[in-house]
Parts: sequence; C-alpha cells; structure tokens
Amino acid sequence: MGDSDSDMDYYGSQISNLIEQLGSLPGIGSKTAQRLAFHIISMPPERVEALAASLTQARRNVRYCKECGTLTDQELCPICSDLKRDHRTIMVVESSRDLAAYEKTGHYNGVYHVLQGVISPQLGIGPSDIRLKELMQRLQGDVDEVIIATGSSLEGETTAMYISRLVKPTGIRVTRIASGVPVGGDLEYIDEVTLLRALDGRVEL
Ligand code: ZN
Repeated sequence: MGDSDSDMDYYGSQISNLIEQLGSLPGIGSKTAQRLAFHIISMPPERVEALAASLTQARRNVRYCKECGTLTDQELCPICSDLKRDHRTIMVVESSRDLAAYEKTGHYNGVYHVLQGVISPQLGIGPSDIRLKELMQRLQGDVDEVIIATGSSLEGETTAMYISRLVKPTGIRVTRIASGVPVGGDLEYIDEVTLLRALDGRVEL
C-alpha cells in the first residue's frame, strides 16, 4: 500500500515538474504550462522523444554566426555565406528575431549585424556589452552603408545614436529606418508592409 502511495506522489511530482519547467519559459503562464504539460503527456512517446531531441540538439548545435552574430548551426549563417547578397550593406538589428522579421519581407538583399541587445543604462547594459566592437571590425572591410534598425524604444534610439557617432567618422553612409515602428514593439509582430516602409523611408544620420 505504502508503495503505491509513493508511486502516486512520484507521478504527481513528475507532472508538476513538467508544468514548472514549461512555465519558466517566456510568455507561458501557468494555465498554458498546464495545458502544454497535459498535451505532452497525451502525445505518442516517440513524438515526445522527437520534441525532446530537437530541444537538446538545437541547444547543443546552435551557435552565433562568426560574421553577423545571428543564431545558426553553421560557422557562417546562410545569409553571410550567400554570395548573391550585397555584403556592402549592413543592417544593424537588436536580435535574431528582428533579422527574421526583415528576412520575411523578402525585399532586403544586404547582410545583417546582430547586436544581441541594446544599450540600457537602467539595466546596466553598456556599449561594450553588445556586439559593437565586432561591428566596427566589419566596417574595416568594403562597406557602403550601415542601416540602423534598432527599435524605437528609448534604448533602441540611444543605441542608434551611439552607433551613428561611432560609424560617421569612418565616412561610411549611416542611415536609420523610418520611425513608425511602434515603441518597444517586437519587430516580429509588425507586418511586412510596415517594415518595408520603414526600410524604404530610411533617413541619413
Ligand atoms: Zn551571419
């Protein structure tokens, strides 16, 4: 009897552990975590194994592109290794998600530089905490234009100004995407038309 009782507890804690793990992910509240946990439990075991394997493999193999800093599973991401792209135009974005948003428009043929963050004095994130040194190194090659596409939040604007001040002395053209991208909005949720308008309407800094 005692054994079956502890089995019950054990089973219970496994489920709560799963719910807890799922609930620790961004954007997943406790209700969603529960729904996902029960969904996972009802899935065929081989599908759950495939899901678990994709998590572990992605975490193990995904790294940052050594050129632009985006997430990839190669040394160079597909964009940086594509010779048909215009490597003389570099769009500076905050994150890989922003890169993905611009890629989805299908209308940008340059390359990117992913900062992996923005300057935020409140959060103690300074210029040396984002990939600015790497950007300046890239600018020693043949570059015609740097398009600053950080968000229109205070941090995004601060970062844009900082980059512009760094790049201008090099004589390379510096532009800023047009505003209209909502303040603090995640670029991935902005429709492609708005993104394209922001890109086409970019202004000289
Ligand atoms: Zn890359």
